[in-house]
Amino acid sequence: MNNKYPSPRATPLPTFVSGVFKNDTVVDMTIIPMPPTMDISVIIVGGGPVGLTAAHAFSKLGIDFTLLERRDIIAEDVGASIVLWPHGIRIMAQLGLLDQLLSIGTGLMSGTFQTVNGKAFLRTSSPQLCKTNHGIYPQCFARAELISTLYNTLPPSARSRIHTSKTVTSISSVPGGGIQVLCSDGTSYTGTFTLGADGIHSVVRKTILSLSPPPITPSPLKTRYSLLWFSLPLLPTIPASSAFEVHSKNLCLQVLANEKSNVQFCFLYQLLPPDHSPSKKFTQSDIEAIISRPDVSSLPLGGSGLTVKDAWPLKLKCGITPLEEGILKPEWHFGNQMVLVGDAAHKVTPTIGQGLNMGLLDVVSLANQVSEFVGSAGSSREKVLGGLDGAFRRYRAERLESVEEDYKRSGLVTRLTCWRDWRFKLFDRVVMPIPGVDVLLVNKVNSPIMAKGLVFRGIRVEREPFEGRVKWKEKMPLLDKTAHDEERKESGG
Ligand SMILES: Cc1cc2nc3c(=O)[nH]c(=O)nc-3n(C[C@H](O)[C@H](O)[C@H](O)COP(=O)(O)OP(=O)(O)OC[C@H]3O[C@@H](n4cnc5c(N)ncnc54)[C@H](O)[C@@H]3O)c2cc1C
Repeated sequence: MNNKYPSPRATPLPTFVSGVFKNDTVVDMTIIPMPPTMDISVIIVGGGPVGLTAAHAFSKLGIDFTLLERRDIIAEDVGASIVLWPHGIRIMAQLGLLDQLLSIGTGLMSGTFQTVNGKAFLRTSSPQLCKTNHGIYPQCFARAELISTLYNTLPPSARSRIHTSKTVTSISSVPGGGIQVLCSDGTSYTGTFTLGADGIHSVVRKTILSLSPPPITPSPLKTRYSLLWFSLPLLPTIPASSAFEVHSKNLCLQVLANEKSNVQFCFLYQLLPPDHSPSKKFTQSDIEAIISRPDVSSLPLGGSGLTVKDAWPLKLKCGITPLEEGILKPEWHFGNQMVLVGDAAHKVTPTIGQGLNMGLLDVVSLANQVSEFVGSAGSSREKVLGGLDGAFRRYRAERLESVEEDYKRSGLVTRLTCWRDWRFKLFDRVVMPIPGVDVLLVNKVNSPIMAKGLVFRGIRVEREPFEGRVKWKEKMPLLDKTAHDEERKESGG
């Protein structure tokens, strides 16, 4: 083993702060016995949803890891929601997390789109079609509950490898192979490679860019829209299983709910002024100024007549963020030492809720490539340390086409719902409401993309967790039933 971990420091046990999620029990969902540990160790930078999913995958695949998160608590409640689509939930199901996630998620079954004047121009049941096609409704989660569940369901051995209050400041190579990661508190960690799951302001991405040979790739991100969000106690403005949207010129309001945690989420998308500076930091007074604008405060939050102005005093949390868009090019890795997943590698607008789903697919692809490469390299440390870049390159090659598709359709739908110009408005107001168009788009665009969802080739399960009319392109590897029954008998299970 080439592990050189410092002895684990006692870390505060991160829990969900708002108190909605109280179950701190560790549920060991290991479906098959833990495989023997592979001779590599990964330093995961970032304990967001993608980093935590990587921790689940590595612990199931027997890949040693340490996860460093700069926050003091893992599940900070920023008040936003996350929708997971069938191909994303399927990954969670393969990791043994389906029951826990269904216990905190709310299935989305329909959507209503209307104008600022209260005219509903489309009532869509396309999420229903999602269930028909893939076997499960898209699920809406309170973000902090999702993250908290991802953390709490890790086996204790994996949780002990997660260190909070660790801000990674630099990464350097170690003579003879491997990397060393330095944190702002002076501690350091060594491993075989660094996995950058550290989001949009990724220090791992900055390091990769600074080391890449000239010409150094300029920032791949553009920022045309901002997103102001706030959460509310569940109000009877929309059914919890329904999404509600108001579309207008350069502006869109989305309302979603999670009835299990009694929360409603409102998202206001806006086109930024042409002179917007990417370095501008939004403040609370920017939020208040936007909310008090007549065109915003009068926006309806559903069919009940309640407006943004009425609901604002009831808000639980709020925030505002620029919506960066871009895909890092030409690579997502540097040598054998660093590789990126999730928002650190690509960032999309969240109108159709794809960013996290994309990050989950990254984890699957990378975990498959790395574990298969390390398995084939045998016990040769030189071969492993010298050939990881091939696995990283294959990972990106596998993901790029899908990422570009998701990037394009996310940006397009943001511009469509915010009526970027008259053509978008025409399509949204006139073409979309034509009976059958929403169904056609699900069947011809969304479902074929979802059906290409990836699975961990090294994690066997008893059965495919859900299936619909559209078959998954890649089947989940199944346990040998007889061997599994024998194993259960032996372990008394
Ligand atoms: C309002 C909103 C709604 C969204 N809705 C959806 C949705 O419905 N569906 C969907 O799929 N996606 C959605 N997204 C996108 C989704 O949130 C992101 O794609 C997802 O969070 C990316 O996960 P990540 O783990 O890659 O990055 P992040 O969530 O950004 O996590 C990165 C982590 O790294 C840590 N970190 C950063 N720098 C360091 C450092 N130097 N050292 C140590 N730790 C560090 C951070 O503290 C953080 O915990 C939404 C986004 C927004 C803003």
